[in-house]
Amino acid sequence: MAKAAPREEPGRVDKGIHLFVEDGYRPEYWMHLAVPENAQLLDLDQYLRDIWLECCLHLSSFFVGRAEYKYQIFEMDDFLAAFGDRELDSMEVELALVAPPGARFSYWYDYGTTTELRLRSLGKVAADRSGRISLLARNDAPANDCSMCGAPATWVGPAEDDWIAMTAGLCDNCALASEYRLPVVNSPRCGVCAYDGIPLHIVEDDDPN
Ligand SMILES: [Zn+2]
Ligand SMILES: [Zn+2]
Repeated sequence: MAKAAPREEPGRVDKGIHLFVEDGYRPEYWMHLAVPENAQLLDLDQYLRDIWLECCLHLSSFFVGRAEYKYQIFEMDDFLAAFGDRELDSMEVELALVAPPGARFSYWYDYGTTTELRLRSLGKVAADRSGRISLLARNDAPANDCSMCGAPATWVGPAEDDWIAMTAGLCDNCALASEYRLPVVNSPRCGVCAYDGIPLHIVEDDDPN
C-alpha cells in the first residue's frame, strides 16, 4: 500500500476535495487525490492524462448525472452541430460545482480503445496551496509475470486472442522476440494504444523565426 500524505502540513490548506479514482473494470488500479476546491474539470482531465492515460491526445469526457463535460479541442458550436441535441458542456467548470461530496461520476479517455474510470467525491481534504492537484495514495503496481517463462514482466505484448489490448506479460529476454510490445506501467492504460507512461504535452513553438 502506498504512502498517504498527512492531512495538515505547511503549504496545505483545508480547501480541497478528496477524490477517489479507480479503473472501471480493474479495481486494482486506484488513486486518492486532493483536488483544490476551485480546480476545474479541465485541470482534473490534465492530471489524469499526465499520471495515467495520455498516449496520443485522444478526446475525453466526464459524465456527471445526465451531463457530459467534453474535452474541447473544437469550438463548442461545432460540437453541438456534430452531436445534435445531446447535452454537452465544456470542462471549464469547477469540480466542486458538479461533484459535491458523495457524488459519483465517470470519465472516458479515448472513444476508440477507451479507458473508463470511476470517480467518487469523498468529502473535504487539505489541498495544495499552489492550486495543484496532489496525489495522496495510489495502488502498488500489480504483479505481472512473463507469459513465456514466468520471470517478472517488464513489457506487455499481444495475447493470442486479443490484438487490441496487449495483455501478455513479457520479461526483457522474451520481449526481444516480440515485434509488438509496450512497457509495463502502473496504469489502467498499460498495454493500450501506444501508452508508455511518459506524459505527453503539446510543445509550443516559441521560435520567433
Ligand atoms: Zn493513443
Ligand atoms: Zn520471459
